[in-house]
Amino acid sequence: MRIGINCGHTVSGTVGCGAVERIDESVEARKVGLKLERMLIDKGHTVYDCTNDYAPSVSSNLSQIVSMANKQPLDLFVSIHFNSGGGRGTEVFTYEGKQHTEAVNVCNSLAELGFRNRGVKDGSNLYVVRRSNAKAILIEVCFVDTDDADEYKEIGADKVAQAICGAITRQKTETEELTMGQYEELKQEIAEARPMVYDYMDSNMPEWAKPTIQKLMDKDLLQGDEKGRLGLTMDMIKMCVINDRAGLYDKK
Ligand SMILES: [Zn+2]
Repeated sequence: MRIGINCGHTVSGTVGCGAVERIDESVEARKVGLKLERMLIDKGHTVYDCTNDYAPSVSSNLSQIVSMANKQPLDLFVSIHFNSGGGRGTEVFTYEGKQHTEAVNVCNSLAELGFRNRGVKDGSNLYVVRRSNAKAILIEVCFVDTDDADEYKEIGADKVAQAICGAITRQKTETEELTMGQYEELKQEIAEARPMVYDYMDSNMPEWAKPTIQKLMDKDLLQGDEKGRLGLTMDMIKMCVINDRAGLYDKK
């Protein structure tokens, strides 16, 4: 996957920085976001860092983030934040509150770590969610100004990043619909792993092979097993047809 990661806000103590209470949003968003980037790269994903550390204003910070995200096509854009205002738990914002699998998975995975699951909510009013071209999820890991913060300190940024990484990549392997190209590739792989066996002169048998196989059966050169199953693989069929074209089966 091509994933854009944004560590929310500017760095701590500058214009546009995040909330500072029991923990510092800018600091923790960077810890989680950068660890997440490392993990995604290790898993073979292409990561684009869309973090803006210094900006003259909040609106400049936001527009710089979005322009980094929109510079290339992304499969997913993830913005990492921490909540404030007195509450408990994790919430994820998406455009129009769409219940993207990644968003739902992030809520569930962070809930597994112990945070309350506040669910996937409508973030259409959030600039980076609204303006980024890619499917966007903005994660509010937990609250910086309640006992959430202490819980987070115990859990640590590593586990939070791990949970998010698993949540957004699991979707890839488990539920993503295959494109036709991927489907054909997979079919090919499966076919190679367990070759098709042609047992009968039926519609599965390629038309070009039928005269040869019929000839071999007529001549009792090919009799199959006790149930009459021919047990031919494609390689065997091809070899028979080549031999037939060479006249090997026409000798008296
Ligand atoms: Zn924030």
